[in-house]
Amino acid sequence: MTSSMKAVVKTGPEYGAELKEIPVPDPASGQVLVKIQRTSICGSDLHIYKWNKWAENNVNPPQIMGHEMAGEVVALGEGVTSVEVGDFVSAETHIPCGQCYQCKTGLQHICVNMKILGVHTDGVFADYAVIEEVDVWKNDPAISARYASIQEPLGNAIDTIRAGEVAAKNVLITGAGPAGLLAIPVANAFGAATVIVTEPNDYRRDLAEKMGADFVINPLEEDLEALVAEVTDGVGVDFVAEMSGAAAAIKQGLKQITPGGRIALLGVPDGPVEIDLAPDLIFKGIDMIGVTGREMFQTWFIARRLLKEEKIDIEPVITHEFPLEDFAKGMELMESGNCGKIVLKP
Ligand SMILES: [Zn+2]
Ligand SMILES: [Zn+2]
Repeated sequence: MTSSMKAVVKTGPEYGAELKEIPVPDPASGQVLVKIQRTSICGSDLHIYKWNKWAENNVNPPQIMGHEMAGEVVALGEGVTSVEVGDFVSAETHIPCGQCYQCKTGLQHICVNMKILGVHTDGVFADYAVIEEVDVWKNDPAISARYASIQEPLGNAIDTIRAGEVAAKNVLITGAGPAGLLAIPVANAFGAATVIVTEPNDYRRDLAEKMGADFVINPLEEDLEALVAEVTDGVGVDFVAEMSGAAAAIKQGLKQITPGGRIALLGVPDGPVEIDLAPDLIFKGIDMIGVTGREMFQTWFIARRLLKEEKIDIEPVITHEFPLEDFAKGMELMESGNCGKIVLKP
């Protein structure tokens, strides 16, 4: 194994990142070293790249970027027993403390002392990366590295759709970014009766159709209320999966839910969102559910089954694959919105 590697490093508190040649890290006790086969760009990577307020408050450069990946274990730190050299793995990206109230009660994914791979620690946009043993997920060898790399956002989509108990129900997905797009085949695999998707970007509306949505509309130009009334016989949708974080989409989504229905929110708004609670939530008896990350590790088992049994086709969501060196091209595309998932190959 070589002693140096290339890595995409956030070098300072400003726009951009640099490709650097740096030493291959040593796995410490309880960690494994993984040779990265594929990695993929997440919305949070773009925030770190552009250096927004959230990044400023969470990231401490210099640091290697990235958290979504698939690769092969090449070395073990002291005390690692559940993983072997040669295992084909991906990484859960929430690093739980294991000691807090949440961790001790089966809620590791919302640990109060949570660290996130590639946000609070060195990430995976590199030839090699160090992963905590607790976060290592052994992939089924039948799953390709590019699909295995995007299981992390697929887990976000699974957790959101799961919250809706969508079997035989009418579902509205607001926002067709990568997580929204992945939510479409998941909703279909879970047995949704109809899947309606709203998305202002033309390119992503087109992708939403390819991913298997029944109805796809531009909420800024078309009449969502009329469409929902027609599709649901005037009842309204049973469940909204809010994937955009846009205040307008959250408000519009709430209005489409039938009384007694549910909304799960995965999209992260920039700031406070004003909701008219009495008519839109309280008097309609709506369940509102916050979703963060993925339940560990239930969502990974579901992702494995769906991929292995080909219950979902996620190929259309991977719109671009670049060499790692071209990460800046990937970031620009992400910023334009004219892409699905962008996969990088070291
Ligand atoms: Zn991600
Ligand atoms: Zn904890």
